Amino acid sequence: MHDIIRPQPGIMDIALYQGGKASIEGRNDAVKLSSNENPFGPGERAIEAYRRAGHALHRYPSTDHLALRVALAATYDLDSDRIICGVGSDEIITFLCQAYAGRGDEVLYSQHGFLMYRISALAAGATPVAAPERDRTTDVDALIAAMTPRTRLVFVANPNNPTGTMIPAFDVTRLADALPPQALLVLDGAYAEYVENFDGGAAMVESRDNVVMTRTFSKIHGLGGLRVGWGYGPRHVIDVLNRIRGPFNLSTTQLEVGEAALTDTEHLERSLRENARMRTWLQRALLDLGLKCDRSHANFVLARFDSPAEAEACNAHLLSEGLIVRQVGAYGLPECLRITVGDEPACRRVVHAIAQVRGRR
Ligand SMILES: *Cc1c(COP(=O)(O)O)cnc(C)c1O
Repeated sequence: MHDIIRPQPGIMDIALYQGGKASIEGRNDAVKLSSNENPFGPGERAIEAYRRAGHALHRYPSTDHLALRVALAATYDLDSDRIICGVGSDEIITFLCQAYAGRGDEVLYSQHGFLMYRISALAAGATPVAAPERDRTTDVDALIAAMTPRTRLVFVANPNNPTGTMIPAFDVTRLADALPPQALLVLDGAYAEYVENFDGGAAMVESRDNVVMTRTFSKIHGLGGLRVGWGYGPRHVIDVLNRIRGPFNLSTTQLEVGEAALTDTEHLERSLRENARMRTWLQRALLDLGLKCDRSHANFVLARFDSPAEAEACNAHLLSEGLIVRQVGAYGLPECLRITVGDEPACRRVVHAIAQVRGRR
């Protein structure tokens, strides 16, 4: 660090985010199962909208995102005035930290929670606080015990990444009921679409003035590269977030492709169906190989080995076979590998490779 020109306190505590590895040198047949991407890619409608958007690249985009907000509201039965769109849901998380947490404030999340909560808290100068989990699952009592008069934000991903576990509505309600008066609860619904009959927390947002939900086009919609996410919250919160949002944070391309993706029910249904089918298959196969694996509610599974060394060795073998999964030591889970549920051939290759490692022991 420069000795006179220095960033704000907290910033140098941020470890650079390591994205899921994308390629293996010298291989062109590598399968990427490290970033929870949709194995079927974007849907046809999204691709068509992307092509069409090219003709209007000289125009500045909408600043109020009205068309996308109205489409989201119609799809999920929400109030379009209380939706905010961002560059991925990461940007909504950033806005929340920037707007509500600063020096001396605490941002609370759970032990194996999504890394962006800590990063965004530090970037805002706030203090990140992690509450312990129980059996790799959000522990509401531990979160409640960690709340203080300085807590300004509580982040819970439900289902959580990288564990894949989730907590029931009853627990989310208990958490919301226990919030100190100055704190907001943020329900991160990045994987909500993968859970049947689940609203991601929308009803909770409707019934309170201190709960926000974040959602994304990056996972089931297969648009991680496009960078579109959104948030739903009480009017007073959305009003605050819009004040710090750049007027042109989303391009016309992002807005129109997102809108088109919402209408592609065929792509969504296929993605959901295949994910459920291969997730069940993959979990069963891992258990049959003697590994441990909590029940996942998302589009990845967390394989648990006997030791960090064994997870490391398995990861090395998978790489040598052209298979990229995610090491999750940064999440405090060095004995685990997070494997995105791929298509059937990818899942079969992963299980075959892991079986080779297990067989060698
Ligand atoms: C993938 C993911 C997101 C989404 O990030 P985007 O910025 O929308 O791509 C948010 N939260 C969690 C827990 C995730 O796993």
